[in-house]
Amino acid sequence: MESEKCYTIAIGTLGCKVNQAESEAIARHFCAAGCHTVSFEAVADAFVLNTCTVTHVADRKARQLLRRARRRNPSALVAAVGCGAGAVGSLADVALANEQKLEVVPLVLQRLAASPARAPLGVAGAAARARTRATVKVQDGCNHRCTYCIVPMVRGAERSVPARQVLAEVVERVREGCQEAVITGPQLGSYCDQAVGDLRGLIRAILQETALPRLRLSSIEPHNFPPGLVDLWPDTRLCRHFHIALQSGSDAVLRRMGRTYRVDQYTELVASIRQRVPGAAITTDVIAGFPGETEREFAETHELVRSLGFARVHVFPFSARPGTRAASLRPLVPEALKRERCEALQRAGREGASGFCREMVGQTLEVLYEEQLADGCWSGYTDNYARVLTPGEAPLANRLLPTHLTGVVGQDLTGRLTIEDHSLSGRVSAITLAS
Ligand code: SF4
Repeated sequence: MESEKCYTIAIGTLGCKVNQAESEAIARHFCAAGCHTVSFEAVADAFVLNTCTVTHVADRKARQLLRRARRRNPSALVAAVGCGAGAVGSLADVALANEQKLEVVPLVLQRLAASPARAPLGVAGAAARARTRATVKVQDGCNHRCTYCIVPMVRGAERSVPARQVLAEVVERVREGCQEAVITGPQLGSYCDQAVGDLRGLIRAILQETALPRLRLSSIEPHNFPPGLVDLWPDTRLCRHFHIALQSGSDAVLRRMGRTYRVDQYTELVASIRQRVPGAAITTDVIAGFPGETEREFAETHELVRSLGFARVHVFPFSARPGTRAASLRPLVPEALKRERCEALQRAGREGASGFCREMVGQTLEVLYEEQLADGCWSGYTDNYARVLTPGEAPLANRLLPTHLTGVVGQDLTGRLTIEDHSLSGRVSAITLAS
């Protein structure tokens, strides 16, 4: 695909890792057509927002971003794609649902080219982004029917990306310099392909057939966590990070949600991962204020979140999505109470994250550095998904470096580099070593 003009395209993403993977694919297609991609906050010839509709908050965010893009760039073309395109499409010049997502590239380029009054901005403001972590979609769709979830309606039935296609993509991302790939799909645990079998086969193939330094898995549902999956983890290229959605710590609420596991099964799964993969980060999602959630049911969830010591907890207030069974469930939890419950779960989540970080102090782990913050610290992640802040002036972006973990600040760790790395241009001494 060749574009005659060098357009600047701003790409924004809301929602899950699958959306993230698809936005990266959209960005690559624009780049292949000779365009530059920038963040959604930048000035651009066109804005493409990859939307999410999993909660009403996601819809509201999409509306705000589209309106802001329009206000700041009145002559730019604005496109909304993905799960929420139907809900917010009236604010955009182009709206495309999931199946047509990639069509946004030729469509936007045609519309820009057909408008000779639009002079391309060119490369101005198009900051090159370091390729650090790639998100690779290996599966799409969901055959489950959790009563609150709109994903099966907007993403359709389960299907897996052929393994050879996944491998080719990982090889390409490694060639571009990515140090880490996150494989993702709404039902990652259901992955299947004739050539490799299940998710374990796919992981083995990626490890054997590519030079990828780090492989991370995105969310896996507890009901289809593949048996024997953690047997692969002695391979140190696999990140010790498992995101397993809990949603509720009450069996009664789980039943009303249409989830097909019990709390004891969930806790057994977490215990077996921790036993087999020492230091593993277990992160989760929890919904607060599901219809009919009693004080006692909420207390069960709160207690479970506290006792399981998650490394990170994403808390979502229940949001009724039109067309889902839960939208008609009653009684509703009053908004103020829902907010209170969210805050209590978030506090428990923060305590868990700090506790997880405290246990890591004194260890030396490889950190994949991503960006330098305004205060000069470099920010990066360990394989078990703890954020590490390391002071220093030497360029560390996209470097995987052994780092001594020296302390905890909030939910992050502080670190200092432990190597004499001559490729840092002899500037190791310029790195302020934390005590
Ligand atoms: S398993 Fe449930 S929550 Fe997850 S995508 Fe499918 S329907 Fe939604």
